[in-house]
Amino acid sequence: DSESKLQLVQRHIRAFPDFPQQGILFRDICPILKDPAALTAVIDLFEDHVRKNHQQLDLIVGLDARGFLFGPLLAQRLGLGFVLVRKKGKLPGTTVSVAYDLEYGKAEVEIQEDAVAPGQKVLLIDDLLATGGTLHAACELMEKLQAQIAGCLVVIELQELKGADKLKPHRVFSLLRY
Ligand code: AMP
Repeated sequence: DSESKLQLVQRHIRAFPDFPQQGILFRDICPILKDPAALTAVIDLFEDHVRKNHQQLDLIVGLDARGFLFGPLLAQRLGLGFVLVRKKGKLPGTTVSVAYDLEYGKAEVEIQEDAVAPGQKVLLIDDLLATGGTLHAACELMEKLQAQIAGCLVVIELQELKGADKLKPHRVFSLLRY
């Protein structure tokens, strides 16, 4: 059942204090990928959620880099295509980009202009929601391409950083909250 799948997933997430810098508790999802049953559980739980809550989706949009680990598997399950939102400078051809502020400095996300057609309904996916800055920028990219945003999926949500508020009115579904 879904409770035992969630527990299996939870047992495959490790926490590393002070990585990549002092004061950050890094949630490492690598053990999930190493265990086929845990990875299947993640995709099962996302699939159940999407089938119950979303209709007529067109594409799954994955965020660089760990959104690429889960997104294509989910997209295949659902019979949908997968497209990539990348960090700046990685994609060939005509691209659209959005810059956003990090705690220190700036970052930029980018997508190929023809990745999503106007009106297409998309679901965004990443491993973890922290401040929401990255997913928010990806949502802005979707808006530039006139996509319809159905919502965001993450394995882990760090609730005290209030990323879900930043993403409003878009909905966030998380498997685990810390
Ligand atoms: P944010 O834009 O603040 O929501 O940060 C989200 C991005 O940074 C995601 O792509 C995560 O993979 C990564 N990230 C942020 N905080 C953590 C953390 N505590 N542990 C692991 N990854 C994190």
